[in-house]
Amino acid sequence: MPINEKVAKLMNEQIMKEWYSAYLYMSMAGYLEVQNLPGMAHWMQIQVLEELSHGRIFQKYLAEDMGIQPVLEQIAAPPKTFASPQDVFEKAYEHELTVTASINNIMDHAIKAGDHASRHMLEWFIAEQVEEEKSVSEIVAVFKRMPKGHEAILFQLDAKLGTRTFTLPPQLAAKGA
Ligand code: MG
Repeated sequence: MPINEKVAKLMNEQIMKEWYSAYLYMSMAGYLEVQNLPGMAHWMQIQVLEELSHGRIFQKYLAEDMGIQPVLEQIAAPPKTFASPQDVFEKAYEHELTVTASINNIMDHAIKAGDHASRHMLEWFIAEQVEEEKSVSEIVAVFKRMPKGHEAILFQLDAKLGTRTFTLPPQLAAKGA
């Protein structure tokens, strides 16, 4: 069964949304590097790789599985700077909420259209968004509980975030990114 036209259009737009996310997190990584927080910058850079892979999964699904040529359009410039490291992670959290809403909207249309293939494909993203929101909100929670002037905790958090690793999502690992 061919993919529902509206679902295909929304998925095409989602490619740019995922790659905008990558661009946003690249900007955040640069800010954190200037703040001498290399672990947090590394964490953001892993986030960048994840977002690139998310866009790629949509691109491959449309092109390889559905035979639709994705149209790649302009990606907006991300914010140039941030108020503080805490602000970075709060903005990352807010951004992930908008991504979740966008994925949910595509799923709503896939359900309405009875597009079971797309529903199946989107399930992974629904679960992924739960993880994304959880991991960023946990970092924001540490910032919020950090007493003012206790730099040691900031650097402990930085060291912890510096250990994050990237795993290629199974959809790409199985087929070759
Ligand atoms: Mg994403």
